[in-house]
Amino acid sequence: MPLAPDTLRAWAEVDLGQLERNLANIRAALPPHLRYVAVIKADAYGHGSTSVATRLMRARADLFAVANIDEAAALREIGSGWPILILSAVLPSERTEVFAHNLTPTVSSAEEVRAFAEEAHARGRVLGVHLKIDTGMGRLGVWHGEAAALASDILSRKSLRLEGVYTHFACADSDAAVTAEQRDRFLRCLDEADLARKSGLIIHADNSAGIDTFPRSGLFNGARVGLLQFGVRPYAGSLLANVAVEPVFSFHTRIALVKSLPAGTSVSYGHTHTLRRPSRLAILAAGYADGIPTRMSNRGRVLIHGYECPVVGRVTMDQTLVDITDLPQPAAPGDTATFIGTQGGASLRVEDFAAAADQIPWETFCSISKRVRRVYRIDSAL
Ligand SMILES: *Cc1c(COP(=O)(O)O)cnc(C)c1O
Repeated sequence: MPLAPDTLRAWAEVDLGQLERNLANIRAALPPHLRYVAVIKADAYGHGSTSVATRLMRARADLFAVANIDEAAALREIGSGWPILILSAVLPSERTEVFAHNLTPTVSSAEEVRAFAEEAHARGRVLGVHLKIDTGMGRLGVWHGEAAALASDILSRKSLRLEGVYTHFACADSDAAVTAEQRDRFLRCLDEADLARKSGLIIHADNSAGIDTFPRSGLFNGARVGLLQFGVRPYAGSLLANVAVEPVFSFHTRIALVKSLPAGTSVSYGHTHTLRRPSRLAILAAGYADGIPTRMSNRGRVLIHGYECPVVGRVTMDQTLVDITDLPQPAAPGDTATFIGTQGGASLRVEDFAAAADQIPWETFCSISKRVRRVYRIDSAL
């Protein structure tokens, strides 16, 4: 039975049972003591954070990580017990919200440590924090040469509790040597700060791509999993090929109109495509306002009746033209057109969409707009 009502013009199907299986399979590939930090920033990579978080809670994620206070506050509404780590730097004006929603901030500087310590002290609270160390990304985190000093600053504050230490890899998907160097710097910091044996500390460095080189023994006891839990490998040829994850997300629209046009007709804005033969075109009910970027003009592909059909002409705000001349069976208004997903034996992956759109898969997920209704397959994982 189709999941989406036939009145929807563009929708994404999110398979929550598959999400749960992915989490279980990722966990199975990692050491048993590992703390699973589910990264669900940006509306759970466009999958819808409420449904995704609820299912991940059931699947026993240990911690959640989001980008900012708004995302964290929405998540706090769903589950009061779960630790929520804020990955971005908290703005000075947002600090009180950290206390109001019982969140765990990331700290990278002495100013943040002092401000959070004073705020916590004034409220008679002890605030848990994660210290982020910059081991070569050059973005958030205290520079690794200064990390030990900042760690002891945190440990000396009675109103702060150091709950985690982490770093982020700049090239986990492309350069194993740089990643190894970052891992070494990070471990050296833990040693210098005498944190290696501190109990109860979550020590995490790996994102999806990092998990490829996750050391099975040693100090790391957490991983921050984003893309991989949605069934998408961070890069082709990832060692994670042997982790059995499958895509959770598919993206569909419908044919709104079918028409035949003579050879030589120029179509779409700017007459960006000229038909070389008498053609049948399908006008799809989605365009760049739905997240099909104009970069896919004359480049994208879509599945109709299980066949790949090319996008022709420029993608417009609300419609996209595709050439369906070669379909063996005539297509009709209302038929489904799949940009990401499977039809019969054919499939187009988010990686294919991203390549045609000059995007990375993370960006594609974030770009599929609110106009695209998310519908959830809620079958159990078993
Ligand atoms: C987004 C993010 C992740 C998750 O990365 P994936 O590649 O999607 O697994 C991990 N850590 C930090 C700090 C992030 O911002």
